[in-house]
Amino acid sequence: MTSSTDPVPRIDLPGGVAIPQLGLGVWQVPKEDTEGVVAHALETGYRHIDTAAAYQNERGVGAAIAASGLPRDDVFVTTKVWNAAHGYDEAKAAAAKSLERLGLDHVDLLLIHWPVPSRDLYVETWRALVDLREEGLTTAIGVSNFQPAHLRRIIDETGVVPAVNQVELHPYLHQHELREVHAELGIVTEPWSPLGQGEILNDPVIVEIAERVGRTPGQVIIRWHLQHGFVLFPKSKTPARIDENFDVFGFDLADEDLQAIGGLDRGKRFGPDPDTFSLT
Ligand code: NAD
Repeated sequence: MTSSTDPVPRIDLPGGVAIPQLGLGVWQVPKEDTEGVVAHALETGYRHIDTAAAYQNERGVGAAIAASGLPRDDVFVTTKVWNAAHGYDEAKAAAAKSLERLGLDHVDLLLIHWPVPSRDLYVETWRALVDLREEGLTTAIGVSNFQPAHLRRIIDETGVVPAVNQVELHPYLHQHELREVHAELGIVTEPWSPLGQGEILNDPVIVEIAERVGRTPGQVIIRWHLQHGFVLFPKSKTPARIDENFDVFGFDLADEDLQAIGGLDRGKRFGPDPDTFSLT
């Protein structure tokens, strides 16, 4: 579904909210730059911002949204509960603090940032998110970095299926098994580090496609994600790159090019292993 003014398709999530398939991620955007970066993205046409308590820039995100004058419902905001806030009461308190920093009365999507299996508190944390949704502090709830066993456990213990699972996914890490589980359970796949943190923009296969179709490597990779039905939010704080990453709705990749990128999978992670990551 697209509107006449918004080129970005939206995907319906449970709870009656539709998520724009392309947004801006603000991990590693310094807090002093965030308001300006998000303001530029909103002017460009972005209507989806992915932040987190751990990024320490929620205030800048909220300030830019407030200053934009856009109706609240036009902008889709995601934030996340950090590892140190696992547990029922801790997660509820952390979400309240995120809302205070964002200056919002609700977010559109609230995620558990990592499962942290070593703490074994993610089920209680999930119960908190379920109740936060009931209380209207978030419209949809989901998880991030959950492996199939973690997904099945929260669903078995609460009966509530996460709307999304945000996981590392890019042309060097296709996550086929997880995507099959998502399809089975009706969970939307959100790739993080969709550009491989910039490290795969020089891949010869990507560069060859980009030159042939007259686009940049980043645009080719973003189209690959979009044509797979993923929801992604490449990060940049450079205005020209923010614009470039949004200018991806005027072309399609051919099946042969999708297949060529499909051949690049090498199971390579740029980020941590979700089964063992426990930083607090
Ligand atoms: P990314 O794959 O989006 O790559 C970002 C880097 O690529 C930038 O720092 C920049 O150097 C480069 N880049 C971006 N656009 C470019 C362009 N057009 N041309 C050339 N270089 C370009 O990496 P990311 O920031 O790790 O991931 C995106 C977002 O995903 C984050 O901002 C965050 O919102 C989310 N994320 C979530 C988790 C999680 O655990 N849930 C982890 C990492 C990232």
